[in-house]
Amino acid sequence: MAKLVNRFEPTLVEQSYVFEAAKGVGVVTRQFIRNLFGRRDTPTVHYPEQRPVYPDRFRGRHRLMKRDDDQVRCVACMLCSTACPANCITIVAVEHEDTAIEKMPERFEIDLLKCIYCGFCVEACPCDAIRMDSGRHTLPAYDRKSEHIGKVDLLAIGEATIAPQGGRYRSVKEAH
Ligand code: SF4
Ligand code: SF4
Repeated sequence: MAKLVNRFEPTLVEQSYVFEAAKGVGVVTRQFIRNLFGRRDTPTVHYPEQRPVYPDRFRGRHRLMKRDDDQVRCVACMLCSTACPANCITIVAVEHEDTAIEKMPERFEIDLLKCIYCGFCVEACPCDAIRMDSGRHTLPAYDRKSEHIGKVDLLAIGEATIAPQGGRYRSVKEAH
């Protein structure tokens, strides 16, 4: 059943906005004084000296995971770049010398300035090759080029994982 809602009709005093503006100034002033003298109420984290504990599902900087022999786990299937709504993943595939693996990325680049941290790439990957569980923020940079992270940077914070296809994510460390 439809619920009827009365249309808001402001009074003449409300229409003048003088009192409403004064009320707004009052709220801001109260908050300012509370922040100035009652620091316990201020939810400020003094980063980087203090670091908040992120929830498990926090999506931070990407990392590429590795096989047991430290090789990149990615098989250059392009599923992540296809799923990426920001179109910010560039992969150049080459043949792997192991015919059982077939392909690997020669180039794997993410443009972090375009990335919206949606996590679709992680969801799309069939072999746990890309994760966003690093707990790291994207670093500030002075130029756009520094926000293009490549395979070397992505692998530098990756670790070996033995997750089966479609299975629960597990790192080698967790498994032992
Ligand atoms: S988090 Fe989203 S936008 Fe960023 S690379 Fe992955 S799919 Fe693309
Ligand atoms: S990271 Fe995963 S989804 Fe992306 S190309 Fe590599 S294997 Fe495929």
